[in-house]
Amino acid sequence: MPTVISAAAVAAARIRTYGSPPLTVLVFLFLVLSPPPAMAEPDDGFAEKRAEMIAVISALAKRIGKVSGKGVMDEGVMEVMARVPRHEFVPEERRDDAYDNRPLPIGFGQTISQPYIVALMTDLLVLAPGASVLEVGTGSGYQAAVLAELARRVFTIEIIDELGELAKKRLAGLGYANIRARVGDGYYGWPEGAPFDAIIVTAAASHIPPPLIQQLKPGGRMVIPVGEWFDVQYLTLIEKNAEGEIIISQLLPVAFVPLTGEH
Ligand code: SAM
Repeated sequence: MPTVISAAAVAAARIRTYGSPPLTVLVFLFLVLSPPPAMAEPDDGFAEKRAEMIAVISALAKRIGKVSGKGVMDEGVMEVMARVPRHEFVPEERRDDAYDNRPLPIGFGQTISQPYIVALMTDLLVLAPGASVLEVGTGSGYQAAVLAELARRVFTIEIIDELGELAKKRLAGLGYANIRARVGDGYYGWPEGAPFDAIIVTAAASHIPPPLIQQLKPGGRMVIPVGEWFDVQYLTLIEKNAEGEIIISQLLPVAFVPLTGEH
C-alpha cells in the first residue's frame, strides 16, 4: 500500500518510509554495484551482446513484474537500452562484460548499475520527450546517457570529483549535448535547474532528501533506493500529485552503494 503524505508534512524535513511490502524477490546490485540526440544503433561489434542483454532484462521483468510493478518494460526504454553503448562506460578491461546483467566496478569503490535496474528505474520515471530530469550519482554517466535519449534535458551530479569529470568528458565525447554534469553533493539537488519532472537517485539514502522532494514538479516522479548500507534497502517510487501530496511506494529490495556527503 502506498503511503500518502501532505505537502505540509513534506515541508517539515526528513521523510522516512516504514513497513515492508509483501516481497518475494531480492535483486542485488552487488556493491562495489530538445528531444534526445537519437543515436542510431551503433555497429560497434557489441550489437549481439546488447541484444542478449535486452532479452535478459525482458525475461527478468516478466519474472518479477508482480513485485516491481513492471512486468513489461516500456518499448521506448528498451529501444534506448538496446542502443546506448554500455561498453563505453566501463573500464577498458571490462568491456567484454559490459552487457552482462550485473553491476561492474568503475573505480573509487563505485559501480555502474545492473542493466535491469537501470531499465526499471528509467521506466518508473515515465519520461515524456519534453521532460527535465535530475540524476543524483553520475558514476560512469551510463544512466545519464539512457535518460538523455528519452528526455529533453538531464542534470546529473556526482560527489567524487574524478568520476564526475571523467563522466562529463565521456558524455560530451559521445555527443550528449542535452546533459549538464557537475560535481557536488546531490542530496541538495540542483536548485537552479529545478523544478524537475523526474528525479533519479542512484545511491542508497537513509531517508528521502527533502530538497529533492521540493525540487520535484507537481505531477513529477522520483525513484530512489532508501535504506542503510548493508541493511535492507527498498527501491522507492515517490509521486507528487497536483495538490503537492507525496505518495510513497516501496517496490523491491535492492543493494546500492550509499549516498555519501555531509547532510
Ligand atoms: N548512475 C551511475 C552510472 O550509470 O554509472 C551509477 C551510480 S553508482 C551506483 C552511485 C554513484 O553515486 C557513485 O558514483 C557515487 O560516488 C555517487 N554518489 C554517492 N553519494 C552522492 C551524493 N551525495 N551526491 C552525488 N553523487 C553521489
